[in-house]
Amino acid sequence: MENKTSYKEALDNRIFEIISQAAAQLNLESYVIGGYVRDFLLKRNFKKDIDIVAVGSGIELAKQVSALLPNKPKVQVFKNYGTAMLRYEESKGEFIDIEFVGARKESYRSESRNPFVESGTLEDDQNRRDFTINALALSLNKDNYGELVDPFNGVSDLHKGIIRTPLKPDITYSDDPLRMMRAIRFATQLNFTIEEESLKAITKNKERIKIISGERIVDELNKILLSTTPSIGFILMEKTGLLDIIIPELTALKGVEEVEGQTHKDNFYHTLEVVDNIVPNTEDVWLRWAALLHDIGKAPTKKFSKKHGWTFHGHEFLGGKMVKKLFERLHMPLNHKMKYVAKMVMLSSRPIVLAQDIVTDSAVRRLIFDAGEDVDDLMTLCSADITTKNPQKFKKYHNNFNIVRQKIVEVEERDHVRNFQPPISGEEIMEIFNLKPSREIGVLKEAIKEAILEGEIPNEYQAAHDFMMSKAKKMGLITK
Ligand code: ATP
Ligand code: MG
Repeated sequence: MENKTSYKEALDNRIFEIISQAAAQLNLESYVIGGYVRDFLLKRNFKKDIDIVAVGSGIELAKQVSALLPNKPKVQVFKNYGTAMLRYEESKGEFIDIEFVGARKESYRSESRNPFVESGTLEDDQNRRDFTINALALSLNKDNYGELVDPFNGVSDLHKGIIRTPLKPDITYSDDPLRMMRAIRFATQLNFTIEEESLKAITKNKERIKIISGERIVDELNKILLSTTPSIGFILMEKTGLLDIIIPELTALKGVEEVEGQTHKDNFYHTLEVVDNIVPNTEDVWLRWAALLHDIGKAPTKKFSKKHGWTFHGHEFLGGKMVKKLFERLHMPLNHKMKYVAKMVMLSSRPIVLAQDIVTDSAVRRLIFDAGEDVDDLMTLCSADITTKNPQKFKKYHNNFNIVRQKIVEVEERDHVRNFQPPISGEEIMEIFNLKPSREIGVLKEAIKEAILEGEIPNEYQAAHDFMMSKAKKMGLITK
């Protein structure tokens, strides 16, 4: 049954009239399609990008639209894809990206996700879309302006909260395996259910994810990590077998082992809880990566001994090193972001240890010194790491954490070790003792740093100088 509902209020923006006019001048049909229509119907945070499909040339339509706009924005043409983009200035400093594509029919070969493409009808174009909720189109044509074209009951799926493919799921996912990640990403972002047949097809086609580049997979992982409840996505990835292919370091954390009546927690589900806990606190995807990876060193370091029970000695250090390999494998940036995540993983147990004991100033000073700029993020990560179900312990750890937080502020105010610069430089030491570059300089610098971190001397020039002179005397560098 044809759905004739009209949604003129979705087109309450001058740009749609302009596109409509441009299409009429070129004598072709045009429609708004995809995310814009979906998010309008969901009353979801209205995103500022619009996809337009033209029955004809999308590139010509983009050029015509530009010509009708007062500032004639530049049209970016992607000839290989038959698409074009322009940036429309809605009001001063407010931009909307508009992407134009010609309606097309796609056919796929097995070894690549690049299809054979030929021009087609609106229906052909809707058939090639990934999900019914992404295939909704609103007409920009004069005779039925604002009318919804919904051949697969996408609106009903929107209401029911279902991710479903327009064609047979097995074909849809096999044709373009990135869609498996997109299905899970939308399920996570929208808190929707992936329909049973789709879930089966994803499980069946999971190996095909290997033809997708790391960059594209990571785009989807980042969107999952930035959702309100990232665990939804990771549990789906685990259930379908995708996670084992993409991040086996995480699935290795699954399960609880028991030896002689002693068990350890399931570090996979613990990790997901930590990631979910981080979410309300930050918009920063890298801190979420740190949460996701903070325990990956636990699988390879797990040991059982009669004396100590289950241990994961050195898992933070090993985990930090595993971060680099994982980033390389997934083609993620190997810059300061990677270093940040690795550092967070390496330091991820430090505040917890502090929270269990009486917190000394010197322990806090060392924490600030090692974490530097990132000490607040580290505290956020470590609070999220408290997943104990024992209410007494939960309360105790959080109380201790607040003490640590307070101490960080006090100690930092007094000692300034967050961006520690040695109060006496190597050059100065060389000059004072008339030394050439040598081991002694390093020894003196290290001794000064240690004395400051231990709280033996304040982080000040004169105190450091006096300390250095007495140390130098002991080393025999000066006689008087
Ligand atoms: P968001 O912008 O929130 O990620 P979106 O639905 O706009 O959501 P885009 O990636 O911008 O997603 O893609 C725009 C539209 O293009 C989608 O709504 C969908 O119709 C179609 N699409 C995108 N990627 C694919 C794909 N891999 N296979 C089939 N159709 C796709
Ligand atoms: Mg989009």
